[in-house]
Amino acid sequence: MSDQCLFCRIVAGEIPATVVRDDPDTLAFRDIDPKAPVHVLVIPKAHHPDAAAVLAADPGLLVEIYATAVEVAQQEGIADSGYRAVFNTGADGGQTVHHAHLHLLGGRGLTWPPG
Ligand code: AMP
Ligand code: ZN
Repeated sequence: MSDQCLFCRIVAGEIPATVVRDDPDTLAFRDIDPKAPVHVLVIPKAHHPDAAAVLAADPGLLVEIYATAVEVAQQEGIADSGYRAVFNTGADGGQTVHHAHLHLLGGRGLTWPPG
């Protein structure tokens, strides 16, 4: 847990979030500024700065993050219509919160490439 990290503080319950799934090692909650009808962030409860760091430290945890995203897609009713699952990484990737998170987006047709 990093005291300064927004998502660690959400895991700790210090900052409110709309949690849609709470598993032993991952947490899924709605993005505060949704870019699609369904926009959920899936994070590891342990602090890792980005997805590559999760992979380096604990490859199984990266699998768990994706497995949680698939469960949430089913729960949110977008498993059949389709969705996008993405880890923004670093400055050019548009990462602003440096605690690894998978964006799960769906509920409308998504353009490719994104802006
Ligand atoms: P990224 O730009 O990939 O680092 O994504 C960070 C995401 O976190 C953005 O989509 C923000 O809207 C979202 N976000 C920031 N603060 C919060 C919060 N307190 N609760 C939920 N989502 C948040
Ligand atoms: Zn953190």
